[in-house]
Amino acid sequence: MELRTLKIKNIGELVTYNSHLFRLERVSDAEIYIEDGIIVAIGEELGSADHEIDAGGALVTPGFVDPHTHPVFSETREYEFEMRVAGKSYREIAEAGGGILSSVRSLREISEDELVKKVAQRMREFLKLGTTTIEAKSGYGLSTKSELKSLKVLNIVRESMQLDIVPTFLGAHAFPVEYETDRNAYIKLICEEMIPAISEQGIAQFCDVFCEKGWFEVDDARRILNTAKNYNLGIRMHVDEFADSGGAILAAELNATSADHLMHTSDEGIHNMAESGVTAILLPATTFFLGESNYAPARKFIDEGVNVALATDFNPGSSMTQSMPFVMTLACLYLGMNVEEAFIGTTYNSARSLNMEDKVGSLEVGKQADLIIWNLKSLSQIPYWFGGNNIRCVIKCGERVVDFSD
Ligand SMILES: [Zn+2]
Repeated sequence: MELRTLKIKNIGELVTYNSHLFRLERVSDAEIYIEDGIIVAIGEELGSADHEIDAGGALVTPGFVDPHTHPVFSETREYEFEMRVAGKSYREIAEAGGGILSSVRSLREISEDELVKKVAQRMREFLKLGTTTIEAKSGYGLSTKSELKSLKVLNIVRESMQLDIVPTFLGAHAFPVEYETDRNAYIKLICEEMIPAISEQGIAQFCDVFCEKGWFEVDDARRILNTAKNYNLGIRMHVDEFADSGGAILAAELNATSADHLMHTSDEGIHNMAESGVTAILLPATTFFLGESNYAPARKFIDEGVNVALATDFNPGSSMTQSMPFVMTLACLYLGMNVEEAFIGTTYNSARSLNMEDKVGSLEVGKQADLIIWNLKSLSQIPYWFGGNNIRCVIKCGERVVDFSD
């Protein structure tokens, strides 16, 4: 039988961003009425539906929107973690065959079918942790063939799953070994072969560049991203993770949709991002997992009026977590964000960073019914009760896709 109407009843507290009033909203004793996957009413005593779910007085929030992840890889890299905690340096790890280039080797070898299975499994894990919309990057192929394979895999997984996946092309993630002595030739390959092929196949929405001194410099990034713009791809950037390389200033100059990492961004960069409306995506799990202490200056961005979103940066090297609740915990403890800011940063603001705020990121009439029924009572319990999974049920487009209630 086709599921047409669904009612979530007996919600103790519904917490969501209200995009009309520009503030957080908490509704007690609410019901949500859903028709064909879209929210049509929020209120009390909304009448009967084909199906009903009793939330049992629990907390209900929108599903998380994770706007920065690298899930298209073959092998995990726990051996590097072991070396790192044993005190080995980055150079020693690279000499032992570790680092991003080890992910490139295994990604190039794996078949498309095997990669689909691995990525789909990771996406199911995201759903279990309440993420119902995800941005996902290529960037471990670093050849035309393997970058196209990575993006195709994301499109195949998207077709088979109840999860919104936004594919981003990140050919400019690192320089592959075969181009190490001729970096300009690799940039040329990205601009003249990869971007046109991706555009022709229509398999990515955004183009991203790892803009950092020693990687893709500001002028390289400008060239790649201007090419991407000409092919109607949106722009995202990795900037200022290791040093202030002028990446945030370039993001503002190019009107990028987002600039991410931002641990070392100058005041000028922050100001320019605010002026041109670039969303700042902060990735505290990366700083945490690398055992560092230079967290991004979130308060400066917020005070300057920048839209601040949060993401896991899920990847096998520097952030092996898929948990947005854990990112909320880190944002509260290390970025100086309060609970409401951390919540809006993982839902509505992250939807804005994908230009999807009209569909997802908040529970409002006319939007997709993407929501989480928690085993919790209040919003602050999400970042407070860290390290486990406190989700009872995940609903995507009005369909129950995760159910831990038994
Ligand atoms: Zn990243």
